Amino acid sequence: MATQTLPEQVVEPTPSKTTEKYVYFFGGGKADGNGKMKDVLGGKGAGLAEMTNAGLPVPPGFTIQTEACREYMRHEKVSKAVDQQMDEALRHLEQLQGQKLGQGENPLLVSVRSGAKFSMPGMMDTILNLGLNDKSVESLAKLSNNPRFAADSYRRLIQMFGNVVLEIEKAAFDEVFDAKKKQRKTKLDTDLTAKDLKEVIEEYKKVVKKHAKIDFPQDPRQQLVMARDAVFRSWGNDRAKTYRRINNISDDLGTAVNVQAMVFGNMGETSGTGVGFTRNPAIGTKEFYGEFLLNAQGEDVVSGVRTPVHILELEKVMPDVYNQLRDITTRLEKHYKDMQDFEFTIQNHKLYMLQTRNGKRTGLAAVRVALQMVDEGLITKEEAIFRVDPNQLYDFLVPRLDEKSAKVEVLATGLPASPGAAVGQIVFTADEAVEVAGHGANKTPVILVRAETTPEDIHGMEVAAGILTSRGGMTSHAAVVTRGMGKCCVAGAGDIRVDEKAREMHVKGQVFKAGDWISLDGTTGRVIKGKLNTIPPKADDPELLKFMNWAEPFRTIKVRANADVPRDAIQARAFGAEGIGLCRTEHMFFGEQKIGHMRAMILASNEKDRRAALKKLLPLQRKDFDGVFRAMDGFPVTIRTLDPPLHEFLPRREDLMVDIAMLPHLDAKEKKELVNKYRDYNIKGAGDLKKGLPALLARVEELHEFNPMLGHRGCRLGITYPEITEMQARAIFEAAVAVAKDGVKVFPEVMIPLTATLKEMANQGAIVHRVAAEVFKEKECKVDYLVGTMIELPRAALVAGEIAAEAQFFSFGTNDLTQTTFGFSRDDVNKVLPTYLSEGILKQDPFAVLDQEGVGQLVKMATERGRKTRPDLKVGICGEHGGEPSSVEFCYRTGLNYVSCSPFRVLTARLAAAQAAASDKLKVEGGRTK
Ligand code: PEP
Ligand code: MG
Repeated sequence: MATQTLPEQVVEPTPSKTTEKYVYFFGGGKADGNGKMKDVLGGKGAGLAEMTNAGLPVPPGFTIQTEACREYMRHEKVSKAVDQQMDEALRHLEQLQGQKLGQGENPLLVSVRSGAKFSMPGMMDTILNLGLNDKSVESLAKLSNNPRFAADSYRRLIQMFGNVVLEIEKAAFDEVFDAKKKQRKTKLDTDLTAKDLKEVIEEYKKVVKKHAKIDFPQDPRQQLVMARDAVFRSWGNDRAKTYRRINNISDDLGTAVNVQAMVFGNMGETSGTGVGFTRNPAIGTKEFYGEFLLNAQGEDVVSGVRTPVHILELEKVMPDVYNQLRDITTRLEKHYKDMQDFEFTIQNHKLYMLQTRNGKRTGLAAVRVALQMVDEGLITKEEAIFRVDPNQLYDFLVPRLDEKSAKVEVLATGLPASPGAAVGQIVFTADEAVEVAGHGANKTPVILVRAETTPEDIHGMEVAAGILTSRGGMTSHAAVVTRGMGKCCVAGAGDIRVDEKAREMHVKGQVFKAGDWISLDGTTGRVIKGKLNTIPPKADDPELLKFMNWAEPFRTIKVRANADVPRDAIQARAFGAEGIGLCRTEHMFFGEQKIGHMRAMILASNEKDRRAALKKLLPLQRKDFDGVFRAMDGFPVTIRTLDPPLHEFLPRREDLMVDIAMLPHLDAKEKKELVNKYRDYNIKGAGDLKKGLPALLARVEELHEFNPMLGHRGCRLGITYPEITEMQARAIFEAAVAVAKDGVKVFPEVMIPLTATLKEMANQGAIVHRVAAEVFKEKECKVDYLVGTMIELPRAALVAGEIAAEAQFFSFGTNDLTQTTFGFSRDDVNKVLPTYLSEGILKQDPFAVLDQEGVGQLVKMATERGRKTRPDLKVGICGEHGGEPSSVEFCYRTGLNYVSCSPFRVLTARLAAAQAAASDKLKVEGGRTK
């Protein structure tokens, strides 16, 4: 996601009209556009304009703006005006350079690159050396006095053009190239001679003819038009769409196209190319950071094909160029008041800046850079608050490897590309990652191991626990993308050889196959054999605390955590939770000794048996409540009465049927196994099986539901079996009173789930109040408490005004509310969701990001109606959305009192809530700085 800043002057995309300015020129010291025009020119185009205006050495060119891309998306072609303006700009460029595109003794060559408003590294397409053809390649050879360089540039163009514009698989070209290297018995591209490369060119042309059924176009203008349109089309490719979905970027923006005079970093040893950051993007230290390659084109660095050297080495080989680069990038950082990520090329000792933009960074780096820039007087504290994406704070919570948990055998050390630890089974392809890891909660963790990642791997990277590559640097695709995702990555581990075909990883004489476990340390770059445990992190980093101390005073809504057991409650407090917003009591029973009683309670077919089981559950619940209350000392604790979809606690009907059918054929040992399997269901010995299993099946049949999520759960359970609510209320108040007697402040909020009517609420509320009064009398001690409800059904939202007569608080269960509003099953939505997202029917997964137009309106309406009845109604949210930044902002705007989320998202929610309020306050106060 793009680093957030306070909204600057917003430049609206220019509305469509006949006199539209589609093409913006830059060069000769001035540009038509400027740095603020990111909507129109894209990030790259705006940066080029800005750098040109600042007098920096930028190769001249022009930007075809995003509206042309939107036009192309609508009509599959651009209007005449775009072509006309492009031709004019090209003429202007030719005049300025004294060259003609692909013609004459000194032919103009250009690059054609995408550039959207938000950076999408490697997701769209680029074509270099455009303008070369059979003739101009000869001119280039003469002019550069380097026929090898000319031939290599031409073969690169045919390859890129073939792949990007004509959509020919890369492999078709690779085959030709590899065959030539084999024939010449060489491993390095650079060992091929001009003659070899000329032969490759002829073969490449045949590949083009065979696959695209056309000759490689020799007309430079035709090349340009085709390349431009291909870049527009690349906005809609699958990897770009996936990247936008993950990063919450609108599909409607479109990309600009930048056409720029080529400069060559591969003209020999006085040329080179590199990328860098003005500060360290992984850990935020103030150091000149980056990498470069001599005699190489930009793609060689970014794609990770060759492993580059540290940028400081440039000082040794070309000190004057190095000093100029330092000087320029320092100026750029001061100008943009943010850490810059830049690209440069050196052609025959002359430096050119190709790009600058605000650099992507880890959460740790984001916080540190923000603090530094305040210290340096570049930005104000208020601006600093917006320099960190709330989701990035997760980095402070990333685990470390527990090196005592297993023998540590370091297989290799690569670059610490993205911090944290990841432990998982090896997979070698993105598809395999998705297959093994899936998208579900109980996934098998996988480490995606690749020679290098490409944008096509994005879906696998999304689901992998960590990424390991054997090639590439800190700015390789794998490194940049994982840092954005907050995912552990070790890149460029050169000792590892990845054989993707054989699906093997070779290192230190050992062979690892898919399914083998490895552990990665993304903070040090180590690759470790086997499965280590991980240690949870600490959230009390002093720099983080300093940063949060600037942001927090703006926050007006509270942040609580969803926690079910004392351990999670303690963790949540450490992350700054101001209470528990949801304690799912059924989760307390997932522990080994408790689940048997819970199952017995559910299976009981009469009140007596049920009460007997409940009696055993009472002390267990009381103990857990006691622990949670103590952890939350003084903060409110919302405890939800039982809401289990019953099937989660029952054996599967089909399994039982099979076991009953097999029973007569089992030997003693097998029967013993069966007894163990059903021990929790009152089967104590082999003698119980014959009668017990059919009885169990009969009860399971009785309880079987076709739609358990809409079934006998929530308050329906407490209404049909009031003794359950009674037991829970007793456990809550007995624990509360005991804790209060120890001097701990305690404030329980008892929450009734899945209500749809006033009478349901009244029924359950009455039980809770009655038991509370009984316990207070018995124990001669009182505590304050509330009884409220979850709003998770549309009907509840509609009649919220009525329900508020009985409910003292509302908490939106937006997981169920999303399920019931859309009519999507929470458990099965993944069957349709991928298609819905790729087709653009939904922009985001509504179970992750609150659907503000639909579900959000129910939240808004219920809040208003509830408060009409009860003006002091406390309102919160406890669905998964409570920790998602845009949903938190919505909750703030809707006037909720708090959001509640999983402990690991508490920091994110705190910052998102602070940013939402700060943005309002600072706008009212008149802008960015004070
Ligand atoms: C909800 O539905 O949003 C909720 C928090 O409850 P659960 O996820 O337990 O159904
Ligand atoms: Mg729910």
